[in-house]
Amino acid sequence: MSRREFDYQFFVIGGGSGGVRAARIAAGHGASVAIAEAYRYGGTCVIRGCVPKKLLVYAAHFSEDFADAQGFGWSLAPAKFSWSGLIAAKDQEIQRLSKLYEDNLRRSNVTVLHGAARMIDAHTVQINGQRLTARHILIATGGKPFLPTIPGIEHAITSNEAFDLPRLPGRVLIVGGGYIAVEFAGIFKGLGAEVTLSYRGEQILRGFDDDVRAHLHDAMVKKGIRVLLHSDVTQIDRAEDGALVAQLTGAGEPVQDFDVVMYAAGRVPDVDGLQLHAAGVKVAKGGGVEVNEYGQTSVPSVHAVGDVTNRIALTPVAIREGAAVANSLFGPARSAADLSVVPSAVFSQPPIGTVGLSEAVALERHRQIDVYRSTFRSMRHSLSGRDEKTLIKLIVDSATQRVLGAHMVGADAPEIIQGLAIALRMGATKADFDATVALHPTAAEEFVTLREKMTRKA
Ligand code: NDP
Repeated sequence: MSRREFDYQFFVIGGGSGGVRAARIAAGHGASVAIAEAYRYGGTCVIRGCVPKKLLVYAAHFSEDFADAQGFGWSLAPAKFSWSGLIAAKDQEIQRLSKLYEDNLRRSNVTVLHGAARMIDAHTVQINGQRLTARHILIATGGKPFLPTIPGIEHAITSNEAFDLPRLPGRVLIVGGGYIAVEFAGIFKGLGAEVTLSYRGEQILRGFDDDVRAHLHDAMVKKGIRVLLHSDVTQIDRAEDGALVAQLTGAGEPVQDFDVVMYAAGRVPDVDGLQLHAAGVKVAKGGGVEVNEYGQTSVPSVHAVGDVTNRIALTPVAIREGAAVANSLFGPARSAADLSVVPSAVFSQPPIGTVGLSEAVALERHRQIDVYRSTFRSMRHSLSGRDEKTLIKLIVDSATQRVLGAHMVGADAPEIIQGLAIALRMGATKADFDATVALHPTAAEEFVTLREKMTRKA
């Protein structure tokens, strides 16, 4: 088919972060573009991920802020919290953002469609009973929560439902030890629930620096979150009084009652109903669409970006990948997303910011490393009286003195690490950090005043 025979030059399936960015950039290059979304524009991040999660994190933090205020001379009447008030405010903001996504697409001359699209062949999709052809198709359908099969799993919720619970549960069991598990443990605890986190491994947040993992674990326990390690849920039943009865291994008491059991056991690519096989698009073993560095699938006219490819499941990564595909297809030159330095945050309480290598991975890749670490009480807590410490850590290659990793657990860690990510990407050395004048009094200044070195050899 020649260019003119297609209905569109670019058809994007999925109106989340990656798909929307790709659609707008392609349209900006002059391509005729359509985008289809089966649920709501904005995708996981805006509708039931990063954005509502962060709003709930803010809400949860107030309980500590009110308590800490007393150390600064404030006395407050007992504070009351309304779950329905929070959820209504959150919903309004999500609605505003979702509409903004659609409006921006239309303003960029993208045809905005509502409905589930499926592949018919390498250049054809079907949506709402209509067949449409495109020179290029982009799969950007994201991911969905994974639920293991155990008896009674139908009683459990995932993060999808957690944002819209009819009321704040009194007793929550969270299963998993990753990003979502620790973030929601902090949210529910801060809002006043009793929280138990059950993780099957030996320490939460596998893959993060070991000091970061241990530090957050201690901080969560200090806040009164019950963290069960080497613990599995084998069965969930609903009792007559409505309580959820969970059978737990490695928990002391093997049977415990909860109001909500939330699984945060990872996310899997969402290829449901896409009929990728009809177009011959290969899917990898874990369910992710197979792509090369340019986001191209096994079918040359079909690309894929974001969580559906099962690589780095982070919004800014999907956005970069979406932009790279659109620029490659309709811009002046083919380009791949540069993902050499991907900072990441966990909005736990306290939050984590991290960029570059953990100590363990640095040791696998480098013969010798210098580790700098500082644990301290932030100035705020000198008056609040709260027993909470901040951790900062730098990993440096002994041979080149290049900083390989920067990690922080403490207030504003994500904000601080974003800045340090620029330094790491530019190849900053420990001497560059040392030569930088401190900004006083901050927690961040510790990053430029670290002196005590621990040398580790592979
Ligand atoms: P993660 O992959 O971070 O963690 C999944 C957790 O579930 C792990 O602790 C894992 O254990 C555990 N698990 C896996 N399978 C089972 C099972 N069958 N039974 C019990 N536990 C199990 O996934 P999340 O769901 O927390 O988040 C998904 C992704 O979304 C993240 O990886 C991240 O990319 C993204 N995200 C990013 C956020 C951010 O940037 N702040 C926030 C939220 C999500 P084990 O370690 O043993 O494998």
